[in-house]
Amino acid sequence: MKIYEIKAKSILHKTKIPGADFAINHYSGCQHACIYCYARFICRWRRKNERWGDFVDVKINAPELVAEESKNKKGTIILCTTADPYQPIEKKYKLTKKVLQNLNKNMKLSILTKSDLITRDIDLFKRFKNCELGLTITTLDENIKKIFEPFSPSSNARLEALKKLKKEGFYTYAFIGPILPYLTNLEKIFKEVSPFVDLFMFEDLNLSLCKKEIFKVIRKKFPELEEKYKNLSKAFWFDKEKEIKNLGKRFDKPVKIYFKHTGSLTF
Ligand code: SF4
Repeated sequence: MKIYEIKAKSILHKTKIPGADFAINHYSGCQHACIYCYARFICRWRRKNERWGDFVDVKINAPELVAEESKNKKGTIILCTTADPYQPIEKKYKLTKKVLQNLNKNMKLSILTKSDLITRDIDLFKRFKNCELGLTITTLDENIKKIFEPFSPSSNARLEALKKLKKEGFYTYAFIGPILPYLTNLEKIFKEVSPFVDLFMFEDLNLSLCKKEIFKVIRKKFPELEEKYKNLSKAFWFDKEKEIKNLGKRFDKPVKIYFKHTGSLTF
């Protein structure tokens, strides 16, 4: 693992990510190394000779920059769009914690992570007037999780984190994305996660960004799905949308769907 300590010129950037106005990327590169990660392409220009998951840029002056750049800002700020803000290295650098300490508390804070380390900062979240905290759950099957998200905390640890955050009274959501066709069991997720979230968000699998990586895994671990993955169509994703909406009604939970294939994701 190569860690590059660097200094950024600025840290707060406008973003087109749905539901957010600004993003802070104090880490770039992610130790979780998810097979389907789209951020690997965003980072490719920066570290051309590195493999995704083998490097992290740590912007060590982010806390100072964020204090200055956020002080007069309004709107929603999201932490890390090209990394997980609670990836393992956060235990050492505590950069997410320091960024939160210095961030303008009048801004709405939005965090999405795959790590239960998020619960370490509960006291800090309480200082914000408004915040929403999300955990990604692509599957509750630990064997499938290990294949697609090899170095991230277990689905169960994420579920426990959601329980804890909900118990503390936060607005919580589960991000089910990307949905892994024929592997993500949506009904099971609704059943087990619903009590601990206010909202579900869904994203489709965008193979145009990770085709090589996904097919390598599918051929090796799920050869029976290879043809199905080759034949994924818009109709498949329209059916998934219907399934999600029905489950949302059944479990009485609001859902937000961000599917590229059906046009419900607009940037
Ligand atoms: S946790 Fe997020 S940013 Fe990190 S590798 Fe996985 S998908 Fe990419």
